[in-house]
Amino acid sequence: MHKKDCSKSLCQCFIVPNYILENLAQNEVEAARISLAKSRQVRRRRIMREYDINGVVALTDAGSERKGESARHVYDCKGGTKLRQNEARKEGDRSSGDSVVNHAYDYSGVVRDYFKDVLHRNSIDNQGLDLILNVHYGNKFTNAYWDGDEMVFGDGDGVIFSNFANSLDVIGHELTHGVTQFTSGLEYEGQSGALNEHLSDVFGVTIKQFHLKQSAQEADWLIGADIMGPTLKGQALRSMKAPGTAFDNKLMGKDMQPDHMKNFYRGEQDNHGVHINSGIPNKAFYLVSMEIGTDKAALIWFNAMQNLFATANFNQFVQIVIKAAQKLVDSGEVTDTAIKTIEDAFKAVGLPE
Ligand SMILES: [Zn+2]
Repeated sequence: MHKKDCSKSLCQCFIVPNYILENLAQNEVEAARISLAKSRQVRRRRIMREYDINGVVALTDAGSERKGESARHVYDCKGGTKLRQNEARKEGDRSSGDSVVNHAYDYSGVVRDYFKDVLHRNSIDNQGLDLILNVHYGNKFTNAYWDGDEMVFGDGDGVIFSNFANSLDVIGHELTHGVTQFTSGLEYEGQSGALNEHLSDVFGVTIKQFHLKQSAQEADWLIGADIMGPTLKGQALRSMKAPGTAFDNKLMGKDMQPDHMKNFYRGEQDNHGVHINSGIPNKAFYLVSMEIGTDKAALIWFNAMQNLFATANFNQFVQIVIKAAQKLVDSGEVTDTAIKTIEDAFKAVGLPE
């Protein structure tokens, strides 16, 4: 049986990239050190789990029941690291006394409903997959991640990061990794990995703007602004409007995202820059949204997402987005000026190369 390289094929999809946690750890932030160690453990465990199943990545069989209703199940890890223990709120239950449980429940509902009502996609897999959310994971765990079949949220350390479940763009970002997994399966490495990250950022911000009824002009275009704790208030993890400017402080270091191909990151960190080079297509999406509206831009990107493939690079992505836009022009869903807008936006970030 052929064994896949899990580090490439499977998106571990932590919202806070390792290189930021490493900066924090070097600056003696204890919570970041613990989270780094924990992240490594999770990755190892994940790989073991896959290799158990005859060496084949069997994500769809990994546990969620498919009833076609996409029911939400929120579990309370109570500071432990076991998942799917202590169900705190399931679909239809009244609100819990715990605001973190309620945020995870409400925001995952917003994401699910957006995909269903706006894009006509029935949950992550388009077959009504249940949404499993584990909150209060670990002790001061400063991250959130999509694990191939469920989501996990740490409480943050309360100083640098606050609770990860309290952010709609974080939940939108993570659940979109699930959608990517069930569509193109973009490999989590290099340019395809950066596209994987890009699409999660696109739908993270789009869903937030949709929920807040904000226009592209009104939105802040930030990812993770809501999870910054009191020490770093005002900073964020990424900016789609101005990649490279989301954070600059002694603890986290400086945002490394480029906004143009001429500054493309060629190093090995971060799976060869998946959270770094995503700044380039992110900026293009922002520019398109400012011209034709985020809703139309997201519709085009969502259609492109269906036609992507696991090893797609930036140049191929540009072609696929334009093709998707042309189809929507033909069906009258977007105006024909969208094509030139998209070409100009990609040109502005140096694409295609
Ligand atoms: Zn991600």
